[in-house]
Order: sequence, then C-alpha cells, then structure tokens
Amino acid sequence: MITCELCKNSVATLKENSHIVPRWMLSTIKQNGRLITVESNKGIKYGVQKDLTSDIVCSNCEKRFALEDGFAADFFRNLKYAEKSKIFSDSGAVVKIEYHSGIAESQLLCFLLGVVLRMDLYQKKIGDASLLGGAFDRITEKYQKGKILKTEIPYLASKHPSLDETIIFPERTRLDRRNAITCMFFGYRFIIVTDRLGMTNWPEIQAWMAEPNLPILITDESEDSLFKGIAHFAKGLPELNRRK
Ligand SMILES: [Zn+2]
Repeated sequence: MITCELCKNSVATLKENSHIVPRWMLSTIKQNGRLITVESNKGIKYGVQKDLTSDIVCSNCEKRFALEDGFAADFFRNLKYAEKSKIFSDSGAVVKIEYHSGIAESQLLCFLLGVVLRMDLYQKKIGDASLLGGAFDRITEKYQKGKILKTEIPYLASKHPSLDETIIFPERTRLDRRNAITCMFFGYRFIIVTDRLGMTNWPEIQAWMAEPNLPILITDESEDSLFKGIAHFAKGLPELNRRK
C-alpha cells in the first residue's frame, strides 16, 4: 500500500498523471496557439507554459481536484461569478476594480490551494525543494476541512489584461516579510499568504481585505502597480462609499 500525501489514506495505487493546473486551461491555451514563454516587465518572472503531470495523489483527492477545476472553468472562463466593476480616480490615478460574488471567495481559495498543493507534491516527487516547505502540513490541514475563509489564508487578487492568455505555475514570493505564493490564470494573478503571520497589517491592505465580495484590482504587469492601486483604493474609499 502507498500513502496519499494529501489525505494520508493508504491506497493500492495513486492516480496516474495528475495535472498541476486544470487540463482545460492548458488545452485552451494550446488551442489558441499560445503555449509560449512569457516575459513581463517587473514582478512576474519568466515562465514557460508547459504541462506538468505526475502521480501525486489518490483517486479520491483527484476527484476533489476535478470538482475545483470545474469551478475554475466557471470562474475564469465563463465569468459566472463576475459582478459589476467600479472605476474611480484618486490623485489623478484611475483605479479599476472588478468584483466577483462573495459566494466564489472560499471556492476560489480552495481551487488555488489545490493547485499550490499539487505543485508542492509534484516538486517533492521529482526531487525539487517543496514549494510550501514547513507550511505544507498546516495548509493541507485547512484544505482538508473543505471550506476555507480568506481570514484563515488571506490572498490578494489582481487582473492583468495584457496577460489574459498567461498561466504561471505557483512559485514562492514574499509580502511584507511573510512567505507567500504567487500564481496566474488567464491574467488573474494571486498572492496567497501562507505564512502563520497572516496578511500584512498595512491599513490600505486591511481596507482592501474588508471589502465585501471579492475585489480584483485591474492593473498593468508590475507588482508595484498592485500595491499602488490598493493604496489609491484605500484613499478613494470614503468617496466611493458616499457614491453608493
Ligand atoms: Zn488522497
């Protein structure tokens, strides 16, 4: 018997060739002939968009991935949860925010963590360093609970329209001295704080985290622009609320 590293159950065999990101994502990009090497200005590194598969989990865990991959198709491809956008300006800067239904928030987080855990298991399988390192057990435990709140594992989301055919596999980053993971799906970029310290206490980030529903800042490629945009958002928030 083999132990599935995700659910810790003993199984006869692992599911063969699990995909790290949903298969439909890569086939969509292949169909459009855009399986490419990506270069962007700052913040996002070079990345090669290629398929990664390995025997990493049991068939039960794979079923959960399949459900979450279906949700991801609704979220990213069918825009099923998208609500109205907001545009406002602060000190001459135009801030655009795309809102998605709050219903999607926990499911999206489950999907993201599922991809992160798959990547971690894949890296360990091929002998690379673990993506999550010491955070693997804690993240796995939360993931196994099913419903995860943004207060437990906080994340920031932005959308980069010029990278709307880009997928970036999860990789390590830092946010205010905290360990985090970043990844991108069709131009939607996420920074997931995996550190025990949780989200940074910067007031503008806290204001952003307190937004109802799921706010996604529309911005250009650089990481700076995300934080600048959030700062403009926090300053413009009183005005924005008056307009409601
Ligand atoms: Zn399993």
